[in-house]
Amino acid sequence: MVNISLDQDKCKGLECGECVDVCPMEIFQFEGDKVTINHPEDCIICEVCVDVCPNQCISVKG
Ligand code: SF4
Ligand code: SF4
Repeated sequence: MVNISLDQDKCKGLECGECVDVCPMEIFQFEGDKVTINHPEDCIICEVCVDVCPNQCISVKG
């Protein structure tokens, strides 16, 4: 099981949305102005989300 975490205190939410845009498995979605993690079991651990986040909010551990 992949463990994905997202630091909501550092996340810029709707102002950013980079992770929502880049994840090939559509793991990140907006819920209101916050980003939520959905069906993490589909994560392929490409780590594009980790690389693209400007605030180092995301960690992915396989
Ligand atoms: S590691 Fe890849 S598949 Fe997994 S959440 Fe990040 S962008 Fe999506
Ligand atoms: S890329 Fe980082 S700052 Fe931007 S919405 Fe995703 S978690 Fe938040």
